[in-house]
Amino acid sequence: MPYPTKMVKTIRWKCEACDLTWIHPIETCLYCDKQVKKIIGTKHKVIGITEVHIPNPLHPIVPYNVLLLQDEHGNKMPKKTMKKYGVGDTYEDKPNDSERAISSIKIKYDFYEAVKEALELIGDIDAKGKKVLLKPNLSIPAYPYLGLSTNPKVLDALIQILKEKGAAKIAIAEQSFFVPTEKAVAKSGLAELMKKHDIEFIDIAETEFEEKKQREFTFKVSKIVDDFDLLINVPVIKTDMVLGMDGAFENLTRFLAKETFDDLAKDPQKAALALAALLNIFPKFLTIGDASIGTQGNGPAQHGEPGFYGLIFAARNPVVHDTAVQEVFCLRKLPYVQMAGKLGMGEYDYNKIEFVGNELDALRKDIKQPIGSKLLKKG
Ligand SMILES: [Zn+2]
Repeated sequence: MPYPTKMVKTIRWKCEACDLTWIHPIETCLYCDKQVKKIIGTKHKVIGITEVHIPNPLHPIVPYNVLLLQDEHGNKMPKKTMKKYGVGDTYEDKPNDSERAISSIKIKYDFYEAVKEALELIGDIDAKGKKVLLKPNLSIPAYPYLGLSTNPKVLDALIQILKEKGAAKIAIAEQSFFVPTEKAVAKSGLAELMKKHDIEFIDIAETEFEEKKQREFTFKVSKIVDDFDLLINVPVIKTDMVLGMDGAFENLTRFLAKETFDDLAKDPQKAALALAALLNIFPKFLTIGDASIGTQGNGPAQHGEPGFYGLIFAARNPVVHDTAVQEVFCLRKLPYVQMAGKLGMGEYDYNKIEFVGNELDALRKDIKQPIGSKLLKKG
């Protein structure tokens, strides 16, 4: 696969007429009003190192190093790492398209570049001529800053990337089991997004369902996925009082008929087994985990509180995705993900997961845990 050689990116916005550079995105120069150019640096050398020994909830593991990197344009950026580097060393990230890989990118100002880089780091996607279905989490009506639904900026970036890659069709599918779906869609900012990109929204509740058997379960599941060539799961990362964490697995539950969901919701232990089995119903899909703004504490039933993490994840395997993300946020192990792992659906030992973009220990954050989960207490 033709990977870019060195993947770390430094992004600047430059007015060439005034020879001025900004670190945040602007469209036209503040002084001469001319169009600015996006400058992306990809070749980085270490020009300084700070070893940090004082922990805080966002950086609980010490000591760590903050490298000062300089790109081929002379632009600088900091990079956190647990590894040892020397001044003058080259810093680079190699893309990894393995099923065991997860990429993570810090969003500074540019969602488009962050999503693009996260995809490139797992070997990128081929969307040319394909019908692509996006499955965000919009189950609760909430403004994007609350971190309860997938950030429209992440979806906007993803749609733009898919269009550039020549996708034949892009649609968004979701349903809410708790409120009329259009209410959740309106508050989430999705309506504007669909208008901007001229794409279709599919209310899963209105699609055709069929019964599928998997282990001891009979699921009534939407047939909508069959109409598409590629499914991209785009959950927002939320703590969950029942499931521990809402990630790739939980986001699939809204492909189920409400009666199946209600039946499973009665018994968390049964729901956990069902979640593990559910995965086998779906064709292979990609997960883009939106942790730009997530939820911490007692989410989502008591709404928790927003967590401003500024991170995007991408993985080819949902077991790898949810295992890695749960570790990043120091949450307790998710029994349904482990179960799926034991059934051979993906790597569930985080020591064997290959982190690209950022190292696990450099990402770890000690967030507010969900308390009162019967499911997690027993596990
Ligand atoms: Zn200018």
